[in-house]
Amino acid sequence: TAALSIRNLSKTYDNGFEALKGISLEVEQGDFFALLGPNGAGKSTTLGIVSSLVNKSAGEVEVFGHSLDRDKAQAKMCLGVVPQEFNFNQFEKVADIVITQAGYYGIPQAVARERAEFYLKKLGLWDKRNQVSRMLSGGMKRRLMIARALVHEPRVLILDEPTAGVDIELRRSMWSFLREINAAGTTIILTTHYLEEAESLCRNIAIIDHGRIIQNTSVRALLQQL
Ligand code: ADP
Ligand code: ADP
Repeated sequence: TAALSIRNLSKTYDNGFEALKGISLEVEQGDFFALLGPNGAGKSTTLGIVSSLVNKSAGEVEVFGHSLDRDKAQAKMCLGVVPQEFNFNQFEKVADIVITQAGYYGIPQAVARERAEFYLKKLGLWDKRNQVSRMLSGGMKRRLMIARALVHEPRVLILDEPTAGVDIELRRSMWSFLREINAAGTTIILTTHYLEEAESLCRNIAIIDHGRIIQNTSVRALLQQL
Protein backbone atom coordinates (compact mmCIF):
# COMPACT_ATOMS: atom_id res chain seq x y z
CA THR A 1 0.00 0.00 0.00
CA ALA A 2 1.02 3.56 -0.71
CA ALA A 3 1.54 5.89 2.24
CA LEU A 4 -0.73 8.38 0.50
CA SER A 5 -3.01 7.87 -2.44
CA ILE A 6 -4.97 10.74 -3.96
CA ARG A 7 -7.39 10.13 -6.82
CA ASN A 8 -9.23 12.76 -8.85
CA LEU A 9 -9.26 15.19 -5.99
CA SER A 10 -11.02 18.45 -6.60
CA LYS A 11 -11.88 21.43 -4.50
CA THR A 12 -14.14 24.33 -5.28
CA TYR A 13 -14.26 26.94 -2.52
CA ASP A 14 -17.55 28.52 -1.47
CA ASN A 15 -16.84 31.56 -3.64
CA GLY A 16 -16.79 29.27 -6.69
CA PHE A 17 -13.00 29.25 -7.08
CA GLU A 18 -11.69 25.90 -8.35
CA ALA A 19 -8.46 25.41 -6.39
CA LEU A 20 -7.99 21.73 -7.36
CA LYS A 21 -9.12 20.40 -10.71
CA GLY A 22 -8.90 16.64 -10.27
CA ILE A 23 -5.41 15.80 -9.07
CA SER A 24 -4.04 12.28 -8.60
CA LEU A 25 -0.82 11.21 -6.97
CA GLU A 26 0.73 8.43 -4.94
CA VAL A 27 3.45 8.65 -2.33
CA GLU A 28 5.23 5.42 -1.48
CA GLN A 29 6.01 4.35 2.05
CA GLY A 30 9.38 5.75 3.16
CA ASP A 31 9.46 8.41 0.46
CA PHE A 32 10.55 11.98 0.93
CA PHE A 33 8.09 13.77 -1.34
CA ALA A 34 7.72 17.39 -2.38
CA LEU A 35 4.65 19.11 -3.73
CA LEU A 36 6.22 22.05 -5.51
CA GLY A 37 4.45 24.99 -7.06
CA PRO A 38 4.03 28.74 -7.10
CA ASN A 39 1.83 30.63 -4.66
CA GLY A 40 -1.83 29.90 -5.23
CA ALA A 41 -1.18 26.62 -7.06
CA GLY A 42 -3.22 24.53 -4.61
CA LYS A 43 -0.53 23.05 -2.35
CA SER A 44 -2.06 24.08 0.99
CA THR A 45 -5.50 23.07 -0.21
CA THR A 46 -4.19 19.59 -1.03
CA LEU A 47 -2.46 19.14 2.33
CA GLY A 48 -5.43 20.70 4.10
CA ILE A 49 -7.73 18.06 2.63
CA VAL A 50 -5.31 15.24 3.48
CA SER A 51 -5.12 16.47 7.07
CA SER A 52 -8.92 16.94 7.36
CA LEU A 53 -8.68 20.69 7.83
CA VAL A 54 -10.38 21.42 4.51
CA ASN A 55 -13.37 19.59 2.98
CA LYS A 56 -12.90 18.18 -0.49
CA SER A 57 -15.44 18.63 -3.26
CA ALA A 58 -14.79 15.28 -4.96
CA GLY A 59 -12.24 12.50 -5.14
CA GLU A 60 -10.63 9.95 -2.86
CA VAL A 61 -7.83 10.15 -0.33
CA GLU A 62 -6.31 7.13 1.40
CA VAL A 63 -3.56 7.06 4.00
CA PHE A 64 -1.97 3.62 4.22
CA GLY A 65 -5.15 2.25 2.69
CA HIS A 66 -7.43 4.02 5.18
CA SER A 67 -9.99 6.12 3.38
CA LEU A 68 -10.59 9.61 4.75
CA ASP A 69 -14.29 9.06 4.07
CA ARG A 70 -14.76 5.62 5.57
CA ASP A 71 -11.87 5.25 7.99
CA LYS A 72 -10.96 8.77 9.07
CA ALA A 73 -9.83 7.97 12.62
CA GLN A 74 -7.35 5.34 11.39
CA ALA A 75 -6.12 7.62 8.64
CA LYS A 76 -5.52 10.42 11.14
CA MET A 77 -3.56 8.13 13.46
CA CYS A 78 -1.08 7.64 10.62
CA LEU A 79 -0.63 11.37 10.04
CA GLY A 80 1.33 14.11 11.74
CA VAL A 81 0.55 17.55 10.40
CA VAL A 82 2.57 20.75 10.52
CA PRO A 83 0.32 23.48 9.10
CA GLN A 84 1.67 26.77 7.87
CA GLU A 85 -0.05 28.92 10.48
CA PHE A 86 0.87 28.66 14.14
CA ASN A 87 -2.26 27.24 15.69
CA PHE A 88 -1.36 26.46 19.28
CA ASN A 89 -2.45 28.14 22.46
CA GLN A 90 -0.11 31.12 22.88
CA PHE A 91 -0.46 30.97 26.68
CA GLU A 92 0.26 27.26 27.10
CA LYS A 93 3.76 26.13 28.00
CA VAL A 94 5.92 24.51 25.36
CA ALA A 95 6.09 21.05 26.98
CA ASP A 96 2.37 21.11 27.79
CA ILE A 97 1.50 21.79 24.15
CA VAL A 98 3.22 18.57 23.12
CA ILE A 99 1.80 16.57 26.03
CA THR A 100 -1.74 17.86 25.42
CA GLN A 101 -1.54 16.78 21.79
CA ALA A 102 -0.50 13.27 22.90
CA GLY A 103 -3.65 13.13 24.99
CA TYR A 104 -5.79 13.52 21.83
CA TYR A 105 -4.33 10.23 20.64
CA GLY A 106 -4.92 8.42 23.93
CA ILE A 107 -1.23 8.21 24.74
CA PRO A 108 -0.63 7.65 28.47
CA GLN A 109 0.79 10.65 30.38
CA ALA A 110 4.08 8.96 31.27
CA VAL A 111 4.77 8.05 27.64
CA ALA A 112 3.66 11.51 26.53
CA ARG A 113 6.18 13.10 28.89
CA GLU A 114 9.02 10.91 27.65
CA ARG A 115 8.22 11.66 24.04
CA ALA A 116 7.85 15.38 24.68
CA GLU A 117 11.30 15.35 26.26
CA PHE A 118 12.77 13.34 23.39
CA TYR A 119 11.39 15.52 20.59
CA LEU A 120 11.92 18.84 22.37
CA LYS A 121 15.55 17.88 22.96
CA LYS A 122 15.95 16.76 19.35
CA LEU A 123 14.54 20.05 18.13
CA GLY A 124 16.55 22.22 20.51
CA LEU A 125 13.56 23.37 22.54
CA TRP A 126 14.13 21.60 25.83
CA ASP A 127 15.50 24.77 27.47
CA LYS A 128 12.23 26.48 26.59
CA ARG A 129 9.93 23.77 27.92
CA ASN A 130 8.47 25.91 30.71
CA GLN A 131 7.97 29.04 28.65
CA VAL A 132 4.62 29.98 27.21
CA SER A 133 4.67 29.52 23.45
CA ARG A 134 3.97 33.20 22.82
CA MET A 135 7.55 33.95 23.97
CA LEU A 136 9.18 31.80 21.28
CA SER A 137 10.75 33.11 18.09
CA GLY A 138 9.18 32.19 14.76
CA GLY A 139 11.75 29.47 14.13
CA MET A 140 11.15 27.98 17.57
CA LYS A 141 7.41 27.98 17.02
CA ARG A 142 7.97 26.14 13.76
CA ARG A 143 10.04 23.50 15.56
CA LEU A 144 7.43 23.23 18.30
CA MET A 145 4.83 22.44 15.65
CA ILE A 146 7.08 19.65 14.39
CA ALA A 147 7.54 18.19 17.89
CA ARG A 148 3.79 18.31 18.42
CA ALA A 149 3.10 16.60 15.10
CA LEU A 150 5.48 13.73 15.96
CA VAL A 151 4.30 12.95 19.48
CA HIS A 152 2.04 10.07 18.38
CA GLU A 153 4.85 8.76 16.14
CA PRO A 154 2.89 8.98 12.89
CA ARG A 155 3.95 6.98 9.84
CA VAL A 156 3.61 10.05 7.63
CA LEU A 157 4.69 13.58 8.46
CA ILE A 158 3.10 16.34 6.39
CA LEU A 159 4.59 19.83 6.42
CA ASP A 160 3.17 22.87 4.69
CA GLU A 161 6.03 25.23 3.70
CA PRO A 162 8.09 24.22 6.75
CA THR A 163 10.96 26.61 6.09
CA ALA A 164 9.07 29.66 4.82
CA GLY A 165 10.44 32.70 6.61
CA VAL A 166 13.11 30.64 8.39
CA ASP A 167 16.75 31.79 8.26
CA ILE A 168 19.36 29.76 6.41
CA GLU A 169 20.99 28.26 9.50
CA LEU A 170 17.74 27.02 10.97
CA ARG A 171 16.64 25.82 7.55
CA ARG A 172 19.71 23.60 7.38
CA SER A 173 19.18 22.19 10.84
CA MET A 174 15.51 21.49 10.06
CA TRP A 175 16.58 19.75 6.87
CA SER A 176 18.96 17.48 8.72
CA PHE A 177 16.32 16.68 11.32
CA LEU A 178 13.83 15.78 8.58
CA ARG A 179 16.43 13.61 6.84
CA GLU A 180 17.06 11.81 10.09
CA ILE A 181 13.43 10.94 10.76
CA ASN A 182 12.95 9.94 7.12
CA ALA A 183 15.97 7.62 7.41
CA ALA A 184 14.32 6.13 10.50
CA GLY A 185 11.29 5.21 8.37
CA THR A 186 8.85 8.12 8.50
CA THR A 187 7.38 9.06 5.13
CA ILE A 188 7.68 12.81 4.63
CA ILE A 189 5.54 14.98 2.40
CA LEU A 190 6.15 18.69 2.23
CA THR A 191 5.08 21.62 0.15
CA THR A 192 7.52 24.21 -0.98
CA HIS A 193 7.94 26.86 -3.60
CA TYR A 194 11.73 26.53 -3.46
CA LEU A 195 13.08 24.13 -6.08
CA GLU A 196 16.31 24.14 -4.10
CA GLU A 197 14.55 22.72 -1.05
CA ALA A 198 12.86 19.97 -3.03
CA GLU A 199 16.13 19.24 -4.78
CA SER A 200 18.27 18.87 -1.71
CA LEU A 201 15.78 16.97 0.44
CA CYS A 202 13.35 15.03 -1.62
CA ARG A 203 13.37 11.88 -3.73
CA ASN A 204 10.14 12.38 -5.65
CA ILE A 205 8.27 15.45 -6.65
CA ALA A 206 4.96 16.56 -8.04
CA ILE A 207 4.67 19.99 -9.58
CA ILE A 208 1.31 21.65 -9.22
CA ASP A 209 0.08 24.72 -11.02
CA HIS A 210 -3.40 26.23 -11.19
CA GLY A 211 -4.88 23.19 -9.44
CA ARG A 212 -3.38 20.60 -11.78
CA ILE A 213 -0.39 18.29 -11.47
CA ILE A 214 1.85 19.15 -14.39
CA GLN A 215 4.79 16.84 -13.55
CA ASN A 216 5.23 13.86 -11.27
CA THR A 217 8.67 12.33 -11.32
CA SER A 218 11.85 11.69 -9.38
CA VAL A 219 13.89 14.72 -8.41
CA ARG A 220 16.83 13.21 -10.26
CA ALA A 221 14.88 12.93 -13.52
CA LEU A 222 13.56 16.45 -13.13
CA LEU A 223 17.06 17.88 -12.70
CA GLN A 224 18.25 16.09 -15.82
CA GLN A 225 15.57 17.88 -17.83
CA LEU A 226 16.59 21.33 -16.63
P1 ADP B 1 -0.71 27.35 -2.36
O1 ADP B 1 -0.62 26.62 -1.04
O2 ADP B 1 -0.14 26.56 -3.48
O3 ADP B 1 -0.15 28.74 -2.28
P2 ADP B 1 -3.54 27.35 -1.82
O4 ADP B 1 -3.97 25.95 -1.79
O5 ADP B 1 -3.36 28.07 -0.51
O6 ADP B 1 -2.25 27.52 -2.73
O7 ADP B 1 -4.60 28.20 -2.63
C1 ADP B 1 -4.99 27.83 -3.95
C2 ADP B 1 -5.97 28.85 -4.48
O8 ADP B 1 -7.19 28.77 -3.74
C3 ADP B 1 -5.48 30.28 -4.34
O9 ADP B 1 -5.85 30.99 -5.51
C4 ADP B 1 -6.23 30.80 -3.15
O10 ADP B 1 -6.43 32.18 -3.24
C5 ADP B 1 -7.52 30.04 -3.21
N1 ADP B 1 -8.11 29.85 -1.88
C6 ADP B 1 -7.51 29.32 -0.79
N2 ADP B 1 -8.34 29.27 0.24
C7 ADP B 1 -9.51 29.80 -0.18
C8 ADP B 1 -10.79 30.04 0.44
N3 ADP B 1 -11.00 29.72 1.71
N4 ADP B 1 -11.74 30.60 -0.33
C9 ADP B 1 -11.52 30.90 -1.62
N5 ADP B 1 -10.36 30.69 -2.26
C10 ADP B 1 -9.37 30.17 -1.55
P1 ADP C 1 -12.18 17.76 13.41
O1 ADP C 1 -12.18 16.31 13.81
O2 ADP C 1 -13.39 18.53 13.89
O3 ADP C 1 -11.88 17.95 11.94
P2 ADP C 1 -9.62 17.78 14.59
O4 ADP C 1 -9.79 17.21 15.96
O5 ADP C 1 -9.21 16.92 13.49
O6 ADP C 1 -10.98 18.47 14.21
O7 ADP C 1 -8.61 18.98 14.61
C1 ADP C 1 -8.46 19.87 15.71
C2 ADP C 1 -7.09 20.56 15.58
O8 ADP C 1 -6.07 19.60 15.87
C3 ADP C 1 -6.84 21.07 14.19
O9 ADP C 1 -6.86 22.49 14.16
C4 ADP C 1 -5.50 20.55 13.79
O10 ADP C 1 -4.56 21.62 13.64
C5 ADP C 1 -5.04 19.69 14.92
N1 ADP C 1 -4.75 18.34 14.40
C6 ADP C 1 -5.62 17.43 13.97
N2 ADP C 1 -5.00 16.30 13.59
C7 ADP C 1 -3.69 16.53 13.76
C8 ADP C 1 -2.52 15.78 13.55
N3 ADP C 1 -2.57 14.53 13.06
N4 ADP C 1 -1.33 16.33 13.86
C9 ADP C 1 -1.28 17.56 14.33
N5 ADP C 1 -2.34 18.33 14.56
C10 ADP C 1 -3.53 17.83 14.28
